[in-house]
Order: sequence, then structure tokens, then C-alpha cells
Amino acid sequence: MRRITAALLLIALIALPGCAADEPVVVSREALGTVVSITAYGEDEAAVRTAIDDAFAVMAEIGAPLDVYEPLSDISAFNERPYTAQPLPPYARDVLDAIDELEVADAFSPALYSVTRLYDFEGAQTVPAEADIALALTAADGFVQQEPEHGLFARLKDPDPRLEPGGSLAPGLDLGGAAKGLALDFARESLRANDAVTAALISSGSSTVTLGAKPDGSVWRVGIEDPRDFSRVIAVVGFEGDGALSTSGDYQRYFEAGGERYHHILDPTNGLPARGVRSLTVAGSSLSGLDSDILSTALFVRGPERATRYAAEHGVALVVVDDEGRTLVVPAPEGSGLTVAEDSVETD
Ligand code: AMP
Ligand code: MG
Repeated sequence: MRRITAALLLIALIALPGCAADEPVVVSREALGTVVSITAYGEDEAAVRTAIDDAFAVMAEIGAPLDVYEPLSDISAFNERPYTAQPLPPYARDVLDAIDELEVADAFSPALYSVTRLYDFEGAQTVPAEADIALALTAADGFVQQEPEHGLFARLKDPDPRLEPGGSLAPGLDLGGAAKGLALDFARESLRANDAVTAALISSGSSTVTLGAKPDGSVWRVGIEDPRDFSRVIAVVGFEGDGALSTSGDYQRYFEAGGERYHHILDPTNGLPARGVRSLTVAGSSLSGLDSDILSTALFVRGPERATRYAAEHGVALVVVDDEGRTLVVPAPEGSGLTVAEDSVETD
């Protein structure tokens, strides 16, 4: 008789998913040009769902002005008049400040739009001529940052008509290497401000932020995929509470030509796809999503050696797969609330 009662109780618990505080609500939607998923805990499922809707709305509000692929966005409007001093697009200042604070301006350039466009990753996928890359870099290098009230503008450094406004190599801002992390931060703050949510995780695939500790006390587990076999997880990062993680990879946007892989993470010093790394993941309990997004791109460009040194010096965790397929791990500092476990788990 006792056994039956226990069995009935179990069924009752299973039949009430989302109502118990230890069952999360999970919602995945198209956002930020990809699929974003939010996992959130709270007692009141309906209120948690409303909080998730609000977080998605905030995410869209932050991401939309910085979308260079959307012709009507604020950043596209800015890029139409690059030689005129204009106020920065919304939130671009946050990105520029974070690049300075993280001291990665050599590797993370928000002005590479002229160079990125040459490769046309989403369209014709062409290997640019060296001279065109050099000219596009001239455009990227022309941006002058004045006092905030005077805005930002580029100086025409070469009389080539392709650098004129509207020309194929005209200067432009591209904050695509940071915008997702920034939008996830704002979405997380929206969830934090909502009393219905006790803990949450937001992931855009390449970037993830966590909010608070899971109610059952277990860690948030974020798997890092093998850059050449997506069914394999090479490492798992565990977060006890707040944290952020971003991965940059040579497999996320690329084409092959002449036996070479041309991918979307460009070295600002020469305009070529950065070599030496297949994927780089950075994670930290005190990093914001914006910081981790900037760092994954910047440290990818700097290469395995400089990246591991930066991670060790700044107390952030790092998982790098180099161009020979070797995995290098810099663990998070002891007691930082973050663990990295090397793994090799088939997910299929
Ligand atoms: P992520 O996937 O975060 O590493 O961002 C890659 C995107 O950032 C690319 O698709 C470009 O739009 C842009 N990008 C490429 N190279 C750089 C760079 N060196 N610095 C800043 N943004 C870059
Ligand atoms: Mg990034």
C-alpha cells in the first residue's frame, strides 16, 4: 500500500512539469540572427514565461540597431555616411569602451566592415585581391574617434573612388563580433529584475550567460563542441552561478578555395582570416557576455600562445583547439565558481 502511494506521488510530480521550482521553463526562438534559447527557473510558470518573453523583446531591442545585415538598422544608416561626424549607433559606445578596458584593440577592430564585405561570406564567397584588402584596410584605419559630442567619422585616406560613400570599399563599423554578447547581457538583466525568475541561462549557441544558481544546487553545464565534429563535446564548463562563455570558430562562417579555408575572423593587421586556431572558447564567472564575446574573437586572432597567456594573466578560463586539432585548456582560478572538464562525449 505504501508503495502505491509513493508511485502515485511520483506520477503527480512528473505530470506537473514547469510548476515545481526545480523544473525549468525552456523557450527557443529565432533572435539575433540565430536561435536563442532561454532556460529559466521559478515557482510560477506563467510568470516565468512572461519574463522570458520580455527578455526576448529586450534582446531584439539591443541587437537590431547593430545589425549590419539589416539595411534599415542604425548601424547601416551610420555606415552610409562614414565621412560625416555622427553620433555612434546605440550601445556602440559600450562595445568601444569594453575593447579598451580589455586591452585587445590590436586584435578586435570594430571597423573591419570594408574588409569583411570583400570576402562576401554570405554571397559570392570570393578570395579578395591583395591590393583590394590593402585598400579596404586603409578605410578601416581611417576612423577617427572624437569627443563623444562630435561623434565618429572616417578620414578619406586615398582618392580611390571605391572608398567614396557607397563605394564597395567604403569604411564602416561592424560590431558583429560583440553584439550578441551585449544583447545577452541586457536580456539577463531583464530576467534578474523580474522576481518570478530565480535562476536562468541564455544561449545563442556561440555565447552563453548564466544568472544565479540552479535551485537543486547543481552547476550549469555548457558543452563545447569539436570544431570538426559537431556531434562530439570536447569540454564541459560548469558555472555555479553568474558567468559568461563565448566561442569563436573557423567553422561558423567560411568557404574553401584552393585548399584553404577562408573564415570570418579576420586579423586586423593584414585583413586575412586569422590562422592557428580552429576554435577558441573563453569563460569567466566575472565576465559579462559582452566581455566574453569580444575576448573570444580577439584571442582567436592573437593565436594560441598569446591567448593562453592572456587567460592566465586575467584569470579567465580558456579552451583552444589549435590548427592541428590539439586542445589546450587554461582552467579558471580555484574558487572562482567555474570549472572546465575535458571530455570527449558523443552527443548523437
Ligand atoms: P565572433 O563569432 O564573435 O568571433 O564574431 C565574428 C564576427 O566579427 C565576424 O563575422 C565579423 O563580423 C566580425 N569580425 C571579424 N574579425 C573581427 C575582428 N578582428 N575584430 C572584430 N570583429 C571582427
Ligand atoms: Mg565574439
